[in-house]
Amino acid sequence: MERTTTVISQVQVDRQLDYCDKIAAITAQWPERPLAFVDTYGCQQNEADSERIRGYLEKMGFGFTGDEEQARIIVINTCAIREHAEQRVFGNVGALVHVKRRHPEQLICLCGCMMQEPHVAEKIRQSYRHVDLVFGPHALWKFPEMIHTLLTQRGRIFSNADEAGSIAEGIPVVRQDSVKAWVSIMYGCNNFCAYCIVPYVRGRERSRQPEDILAEVEQLVAEGYKDITLLGQNVNSYGKDLEEPCDFADLLERVNAIPGEFLIRFMTSHPKDATHKLFETMARCEKVAPVLHLPVQAGNDRVLKVMNRRHTREQYLEKIRDLKSLIPGIVLTSDIIVGFPGETTEEFEDTLSLLEEVRYDALFTFIFSPRVGTPAAKMDDPMSHQEKLANFNRLVALQDSISEEKHAAYIGKTVRCLIDGLSDDARYDLTARTPGNRLVRVVGPKEALGQFRDVKITDANKWSLFGELM
Ligand code: SF4
Repeated sequence: MERTTTVISQVQVDRQLDYCDKIAAITAQWPERPLAFVDTYGCQQNEADSERIRGYLEKMGFGFTGDEEQARIIVINTCAIREHAEQRVFGNVGALVHVKRRHPEQLICLCGCMMQEPHVAEKIRQSYRHVDLVFGPHALWKFPEMIHTLLTQRGRIFSNADEAGSIAEGIPVVRQDSVKAWVSIMYGCNNFCAYCIVPYVRGRERSRQPEDILAEVEQLVAEGYKDITLLGQNVNSYGKDLEEPCDFADLLERVNAIPGEFLIRFMTSHPKDATHKLFETMARCEKVAPVLHLPVQAGNDRVLKVMNRRHTREQYLEKIRDLKSLIPGIVLTSDIIVGFPGETTEEFEDTLSLLEEVRYDALFTFIFSPRVGTPAAKMDDPMSHQEKLANFNRLVALQDSISEEKHAAYIGKTVRCLIDGLSDDARYDLTARTPGNRLVRVVGPKEALGQFRDVKITDANKWSLFGELM
């Protein structure tokens, strides 16, 4: 099912901005400024998409609320990665039927990866008749036109055809944070890992032009953003579809050259495409944070092969050794799936030994969750959930001990951190991030928010560090 990229022209985006103006003229007639409720599930890519949805909504004249009862428009941006998240979405959307009964003028919109799955869209069509609009990630750029149709003609809209993935520039953005910002550099994925739904719902890889990315980052730096994360499902294959050669390492180098004090992060990296050139560029570029999230998923070669990861354990470890030699003290994190269909406990133990060898600073661990439409969902899966859970608990216990040990090594050190938020733990005032993205809870004045400051680390546990402003 080879599909090409649809580049949305500036004329088409301008047409959507005209729809925003038409809607703003309608909402200006309403007795009060209307509010929108935007709820986001899943990854940072979804967060970035929701920021564009908010950008459109603001241009249509909407303010924002965290209360569904007050909202004229509800947007739920969904995630298809795990079954648990899907069930939560269905539960929450089901509950909205009561809210809409009280506010029949309300528009309920569902978007994101789940909506690109045909069986989900069909279920919404049949059983969730209070939902007005369903659209997949490919159709986000025409959100204003769809809202305009709903406001002027009512009815229901389903815009989730399996069309080519799109790239659209110039969509307005309302960012959720004033210190950290997401910048999508590419969309989609070509890899078809056996367990993953992403290539089916987000389409093939397509890269934004470097000039558009650089202009966005320059703008963010001028607005005072200090922590900029370049986003893509597999950033390491950035640029493969561009006419002018520019790979991900080249892009990093160009972003690094933008004047100003800020940190560059990126995610996610696929090990098979992570190159020596990338590591060498990371080591040389002073704004690139010394941290790499490099998902390994499993430590056993047979399991990696069935997962269609297209690298071996040894190739992965060789890259880690290369990286550690170029950037001593690099912070490493990873994703691990426990209980992939057919994985034995003996094979799982290769994952434990890989952990011992790499010594990640933190891990994102998951028990395998079958996704309809992926090859893994059809594989024999003889291991019981209890056995998987037992293995999962062994993995978590091992990682906890490694994280605790690595965090304890910070105690007594002074680390230049970015103060990025207010602490929800009453014993501390602020939250901060080390360059390697470890969370620090800090005692200090709120005026430090948004600044790079020296923090003396006084304590640590397996999850985070604790300290005081110098
Ligand atoms: S690299 Fe694999 S796991 Fe990551 S998004 Fe692509 S298919 Fe999914």
